[in-house]
Amino acid sequence: MNMEINASTRLTGIIGYPVRHSLSPEMHNAAFEYLGLNYCYLAMEVKPENIKYAVEGLKALGFVGVNVTVPHKQAVIPFIDVIDEEAKFIGAINTIKNEQGRLIGYNTDGKGFIQSLKEEGIDPSGMEVLILGAGGAARAVGYSLVHKVSRMYIYNRTEERGMELAVRLKKMNPEVFFTKNLDYCKVCDMVINATSAGLKDSDPLPIDADYLTQGQIVYDLIYRETPLLREAKQKGCKVIDGTGMLLHQGAEAFRIWTGVEPPVKVMREALLKRLRE
Ligand code: NAP
Repeated sequence: MNMEINASTRLTGIIGYPVRHSLSPEMHNAAFEYLGLNYCYLAMEVKPENIKYAVEGLKALGFVGVNVTVPHKQAVIPFIDVIDEEAKFIGAINTIKNEQGRLIGYNTDGKGFIQSLKEEGIDPSGMEVLILGAGGAARAVGYSLVHKVSRMYIYNRTEERGMELAVRLKKMNPEVFFTKNLDYCKVCDMVINATSAGLKDSDPLPIDADYLTQGQIVYDLIYRETPLLREAKQKGCKVIDGTGMLLHQGAEAFRIWTGVEPPVKVMREALLKRLRE
């Protein structure tokens, strides 16, 4: 990297714990360098007990903004001045912008998801979809799709949590249902794994592969080929992993911080290079 850090360099980064595995520094620094922006993106490991000081420190140090990752996406909320509508619904913040000492909280996962579908040539309008999970990622995806799809089913290991998400989304579209019956999966155009089952190869499948049918779109938010995606491929489904969503949630954060159109191609190359390592 040929970036020159000097007294005018503007600071961005990511706070998480752990954070060493993050792919975002390469992605954002490549974009800053390509556009000749005097910005820098750092990975900052913040222990849970220090989150308050870290967020307040963003103001004190004059950071432009940061991404927020596990386990701080909810914990930062009390220290944010203004939370946008989408992040409020999701109940989690993945991007903070410092606007002259006021911290604004966003969640860019839903926009990243929609943009990644667009790139795959997929228009979810009128589709019937099944979302597996009810955590932050499922809420982001549900919110981004709720006005577009004709019907949405939510399935989650912990029923109360799944039901609660379905009830909240139903207020925005009456065709949202919590389900315990995975047979509905067979009628869905798209099945989205928004659980963390699949992060490790030894994890159980989030849904039995027998429910998948040929021609369905199976989207796993995890950014690698998971056992679910391998099974889906065997069944003749169109499979998508979470790399595109990761890229586009980052591109959206870049847009929020800089007001500049992100060089998505450069960001993707940096991301794929790291994923190949
Ligand atoms: P979270 O808030 O902790 O929620 C985890 C969800 O996974 C819950 O619904 C949980 O069910 C379910 N779950 C966990 N282990 C399971 C298992 N063994 N079987 C069935 N369900 C299980 O996490 P999150 O932030 O939503 O993240 C979920 C996944 O999305 C992660 O893998 C993350 O890497 C991915 N993600 C990707 C992107 C991207 O840009 N590609 C962005 C955000 C997240 P319970 O309610 O029953 O616990």
